[in-house]
Amino acid sequence: MRVAVVGAGIIGMTTAFAVKTAFPRLQVHVLADQFSPDTTGDGSAGLWGPYLLGDTPSDKILAWAGATHRWLENFWKSGQASETGVSLVPVCRVTSDPKGYIDSSWTKLVYGAHKLTAEELEKLNEEHKSNYKEGWTFVTFTSEPVRLLPWLKEKFLGLGGEVRRRKVHALHELIDDGYDLIINCSGLGARELANDNTLVPIRGQVARVTASWAMHGHLVDDEDSYYIIPNIDTTILGGTHQENDFDRTPREEDSRSIYDGCCRIMPALEAVTSSEEWVGLRPGRPSVRLEAEVLRSPRGKNFTVIHNYGHGGSGVTLSWGCALDVVAILRQTWTPNSNL
Ligand SMILES: Cc1cc2nc3c(=O)[nH]c(=O)nc-3n(C[C@H](O)[C@H](O)[C@H](O)COP(=O)(O)OP(=O)(O)OC[C@H]3O[C@@H](n4cnc5c(N)ncnc54)[C@H](O)[C@@H]3O)c2cc1C
Repeated sequence: MRVAVVGAGIIGMTTAFAVKTAFPRLQVHVLADQFSPDTTGDGSAGLWGPYLLGDTPSDKILAWAGATHRWLENFWKSGQASETGVSLVPVCRVTSDPKGYIDSSWTKLVYGAHKLTAEELEKLNEEHKSNYKEGWTFVTFTSEPVRLLPWLKEKFLGLGGEVRRRKVHALHELIDDGYDLIINCSGLGARELANDNTLVPIRGQVARVTASWAMHGHLVDDEDSYYIIPNIDTTILGGTHQENDFDRTPREEDSRSIYDGCCRIMPALEAVTSSEEWVGLRPGRPSVRLEAEVLRSPRGKNFTVIHNYGHGGSGVTLSWGCALDVVAILRQTWTPNSNL
């Protein structure tokens, strides 16, 4: 049986790797017009943490994000952190609007979560000239997609998977090409491929700087959000979340706002002399779409698509949990006789 995974971002590559691992006899091909280092995740810091997920049910977020956290923990514990780009980092995440953001149930999945006391918030507010109402300190992982994606590709190829650069114009063209099943991990590309207008870009501009002395993360979860996230060689300063904005060019006013906001949190950043600006379009959706759908091709043939897209600001965080759910759907959909 031949399976086409459309998309080579963090969602497509984790899904392809999980499917090929679970069903070694399947022919699994990843088809995409962009590969690492040109996918949406490549510019991200890859911090674990639910963010910009619309109304995705909390129990699903917890299940997917929890599975990914355990996956990253396994890399860390088994000595594979370096090759997969996984780091363990202390983080402080605060908000001035506790109601406007994802509930804090995710804090039970990270290490040593501590809800900031009134005194601690007051001290931070004095230092940052801010008005935080709630905040947590905890320890979690970053997994840098620019390192994790090449690792996933190498492992997937090692299992006998194949990758092909190709622009897919319609999902049914893959059925005409002899594929039996399609897994749609095309991120924002699903606007066209799945005709899904609920999917919108959430523009994220960030700056990558060298600040090897900044070894903890700080996130402000507000309308004007700022964050500082350490990676292995660089530190990410962010960031915007402009909905329905397709502009991939860095803007001067966003750079200025990010720099000012991050320096207010960490004045030492004023010493940074150069930065690399980057913009990515998060695939925002009212809810992550992970489900099977039966479609009919113009030639009248029914075929199954498993959709796995719309992960907003949390594609890295949810990736492995979602990939395992695709495997679970495959197990339910295809009988042992269907040659898996
Ligand atoms: C600034 C920024 C910071 C972020 N930080 C974090 C973070 O710290 N932690 C976190 O968890 N998440 C973060 N995210 C979110 C995360 O990056 C995304 O959720 C994730 O990258 C989405 O992955 P994806 O594989 O669905 O999409 P993409 O990476 O966009 O991949 C889509 C793939 O589909 C292919 N494709 C699409 N259409 C077609 C077509 N018609 N034919 C062929 N191929 C096609 C593309 O070529 C590509 O390979 C951040 C995002 C941004 C922009």
